[in-house]
Amino acid sequence: MPTIAHYHRPPDLDTVWGLLRDAEGSARLLAGGSDLVLRCPPEVDTLIDLSAAGLAGVSVRPDGSLAIGAMTTFSDLLVAAPVTDHLGGLLHDVLADFGSVLHRNQATVGGHVARARMSDLIPGLLAADAEVVVRTEDTSTRALADHLAAPPTTHVLTEVRLPVARGPAAGAFTRFSRSAFDHALLNVACVVHLDAGVVRTARVVVGETGVLGRRLRAAEAALTGRPLTEATIQAAAQAVVAELDPRQDALASADYRRHLAGVGTRRCLQRAAERLGEVA
Ligand SMILES: Cc1cc2nc3c(=O)[nH]c(=O)nc-3n(C[C@H](O)[C@H](O)[C@H](O)COP(=O)(O)OP(=O)(O)OC[C@H]3O[C@@H](n4cnc5c(N)ncnc54)[C@H](O)[C@@H]3O)c2cc1C
Repeated sequence: MPTIAHYHRPPDLDTVWGLLRDAEGSARLLAGGSDLVLRCPPEVDTLIDLSAAGLAGVSVRPDGSLAIGAMTTFSDLLVAAPVTDHLGGLLHDVLADFGSVLHRNQATVGGHVARARMSDLIPGLLAADAEVVVRTEDTSTRALADHLAAPPTTHVLTEVRLPVARGPAAGAFTRFSRSAFDHALLNVACVVHLDAGVVRTARVVVGETGVLGRRLRAAEAALTGRPLTEATIQAAAQAVVAELDPRQDALASADYRRHLAGVGTRRCLQRAAERLGEVA
């Protein structure tokens, strides 16, 4: 257990960054604290509380994209109509069954993404082509996928952005777990963008397979350029089963997870088709 000797609650982001940089690894940012309380490294003696730094809230940017402040809780996100309506309700699917009400009141989007472990939200964000805004010495905006592949060692994640969809688009998310409170054995998020009745671009992301969220390119290719019919959906689900190399552990075999991925993909794509008013 670490002994916390210093607690700061800075009023702005510049002060947050200055404290974090100067602490040289002995400080941690405190968001909801739900993860930090379980795994704070012993060398940490300083907490920097983000609650007064002005990082909470959802807004619509001038280009129509959505900005979700890092300190936005899951409960606040669940009642933010621009977010829950986005892509036909993709993130509503994620959030409606996320942890418990108590947990959703406490946990934040920024803490969740920064923690980057077993996640229901990250596959949904990857399917939505989310970006993150990251503060180090500079402020930069990068694709979430790039950020997760190589996060800066010391940084403050300030915002998650969801780009505006051009033309008809919808997504859906589903998860499989032994009980509502267990971590998912596997989850799936899909997004399709249509153009004149055919799929222009597709995202199929499977999580909990040993990586946080993996895009299944063969499944996306099986959808692209085709109408969103039951046959197309079946082909995409089969491509997921063929392409996925999931983990095996005490909870589920790799074969079972592969099967779940196919079922989850079919369900997500059927729900996305319904949301688009397409007959699946
Ligand atoms: C009871 C329970 C149920 C859960 N259920 C689910 C579930 O159903 N699905 C699921 O996917 N997950 C679930 N989780 C995981 C949970 O969502 C995460 O623990 C939570 O989102 C972390 O957010 P936080 O705000 O509490 O982060 P914190 O614990 O405050 O921080 C987590 C880490 O991120 C760092 N950090 C925090 N904010 C930032 C920032 N802005 N920039 C950079 N670094 C930062 C902290 O220093 C720390 O290292 C559950 C966890 C619990 C305890």
